[in-house]
Amino acid sequence: MAKDRNVLAKAVIMGCMMAVTATAPLSAQTLSAQDPLHAWTAGADPASLESWVNARLAAAQAEIDKVTAVSGAHTVENTVRPYDEALNQLSIAGNESYLMYSVGDAAPLRDKGQALVAKISSISTDLNLNQKVYKALAAVPLTGVDAATKHYVERTLLEYRLAGVDKDDATRKKLRELQDRITQQSLVFGRNVADGKKEITATKAELDGLPDDYIARHKPNADGTYTLTTDSPDMTPVSNFAKSADLRKRMFIAYNTRAYPKNTEVLRNILEARQELATILGYKTWADLATADQMMGSATKLRSFLDEVSQASRPIADKEYADLFAFAQSQEPGLKSISAADGRFWAEQYRRARYDFDAQSARPYFPYTQVQEGILATASKLFHVEFKTVTDAKPWDASVSVYDVYDAAGSDHHKLGRIYLDMHPREGKDKWFSAAPVVPGIKGKQLPEGALICNFSGGTAGDPGLMEYGEVVTFFHEFGHLMHHILGGQGQWSNAGGFNVEGDFVEAPSQMLEEMFRDYDILAAFGKDYKTGAVIPRTLVDKMNAADAFGRGRWVQAQLLYSTYSFQVHNQPPASIDFDKLWREDYEHFSPLTFLDGDHFYTSFTHLTGYSSNYYTYMLDKVIAVDFFAQFDKTNLLGGPAAMRYRKTVLEPGATKPAAQLVHDFLGRPESLDALKTWMNEQFETKGMKAAK
Ligand SMILES: [Zn+2]
Repeated sequence: MAKDRNVLAKAVIMGCMMAVTATAPLSAQTLSAQDPLHAWTAGADPASLESWVNARLAAAQAEIDKVTAVSGAHTVENTVRPYDEALNQLSIAGNESYLMYSVGDAAPLRDKGQALVAKISSISTDLNLNQKVYKALAAVPLTGVDAATKHYVERTLLEYRLAGVDKDDATRKKLRELQDRITQQSLVFGRNVADGKKEITATKAELDGLPDDYIARHKPNADGTYTLTTDSPDMTPVSNFAKSADLRKRMFIAYNTRAYPKNTEVLRNILEARQELATILGYKTWADLATADQMMGSATKLRSFLDEVSQASRPIADKEYADLFAFAQSQEPGLKSISAADGRFWAEQYRRARYDFDAQSARPYFPYTQVQEGILATASKLFHVEFKTVTDAKPWDASVSVYDVYDAAGSDHHKLGRIYLDMHPREGKDKWFSAAPVVPGIKGKQLPEGALICNFSGGTAGDPGLMEYGEVVTFFHEFGHLMHHILGGQGQWSNAGGFNVEGDFVEAPSQMLEEMFRDYDILAAFGKDYKTGAVIPRTLVDKMNAADAFGRGRWVQAQLLYSTYSFQVHNQPPASIDFDKLWREDYEHFSPLTFLDGDHFYTSFTHLTGYSSNYYTYMLDKVIAVDFFAQFDKTNLLGGPAAMRYRKTVLEPGATKPAAQLVHDFLGRPESLDALKTWMNEQFETKGMKAAK
């Protein structure tokens, strides 16, 4: 479910750092000399951050100079080592600039963080086009070196070639221009969506079905009508709950035309630049280029993958839809079809009738503090680690809790790294839920550090911070990224950790963890009523699971719809694509709902800029995640041998092996669709479902 934005196109993964509450009295110069790993100790003002970052950038340049100054034979020690140290410095600088941007306590600091992220990104692009560095790395003999180093260097060289480093000066200049154009047009695409908010007018009667607090939040206009916007808090409840089909349709069309027609041309500009770039680099289409360094490997493989998943899910999706449509007809005799604007409404009605589950009813069992303790305890058992509160740490905000992670598997209990949990909203803080690396790990030199930047309720006196079940799952998902970073950050190279795996694999470990949280014993260990201490009832968890399992076949088909459209627009000459015609064809192929004229969804499909043709990542990682999960003993998820084997074969290697190898090492074979089929069919088991009427 990639609720987070760990889209992680390689270099973009930099995440991290923060906002300082106290102004440091010492000069940045002095402090950065003292603590080159933590930007926030240098001071909470923009100038201190910039000076600290500049010290990192200077250190990186010094290492690059060492690489290019080698006069004799290139070796791992005189070339790869300084190159990796340069990346280490750039990562720390990028991670922590990003952190300041995300959690900085004042706008000028956040703005400085953002500007520094852009600057570091530009320096990274230059490094990727630096022929001297490329030639130096390519000259390092790899016979006889360890497998992790060999893979690290080979993958680095591949990335250099994909950036176009071996092209002549004029061509590299052209590549740079194309990249800049893609970046600039992608920003325009996103801004058009953000700025394209629309309003619709609803009568009082049309609000029927919407929650009371929704209606109370909206004040009527002078004529008694209501103005609703296309922002999610207004739009989503209308789609899910409004009884008026006409209101749902007006909202649907408004929402899907926020950036229409503006973004049609912007999208074509982006696609043309991408196609030109791919052609220069020797690839037939952008989809070929974008999959070349991924687990998927090629556009041809991607096409087969989408076909196979479609065949596996189609019969299940059809059965779900037949049930849904029969239900809708029983409620509304004479109903001929369910339109694109009505799908969510009928699914919600069906869910209510079929499953006696109200998302609010689980919240008393999940107060924030209890959940955090429960997640740490679960992770301790699963990953064989121990978390110890760091009492003398000075995080960027007093509300951030800091833990050191120790290995509980061996006898020496050595320290593995440090985590920062910044879990509640603050003024100016990023509004999202994400995990971010802070410091990369280098064996024998530097322990990995990572942070969670979240916005859960709680954290203030008197507020128990009751969480919805879905939020508890999100917490564990993000925590999984953090553990991947810590456990995968014990190797010798800074940029071969958990966050550095192929972009289309990075979500699989965290998606696997989501499956764990359907287990009653795991939830019951910490799910206790915040007032009475009563353990969450098994029947409630059964109902939650049953409601959650409903509609998985159609979910998969929807993922295939987005994946296919993303793939197709990046796999043919952009000039001749009729975006609307293609969208309609794909929609009608993958969705049983009736297409609505005026639906220009693709103009606000921002994943087309971020993921480009690789939206399939969600689907591939779900396939792998449920296959991984199927290897665990369902009666003893945390205590069985699979957990340690998973840590050893999937998480600890980080990016020192191709992801396909990690998958094979754990499963003993490549991933298959069998577990996905089982996962989709869970909804047809009766546990937790109301008796059929
Ligand atoms: Zn994620």
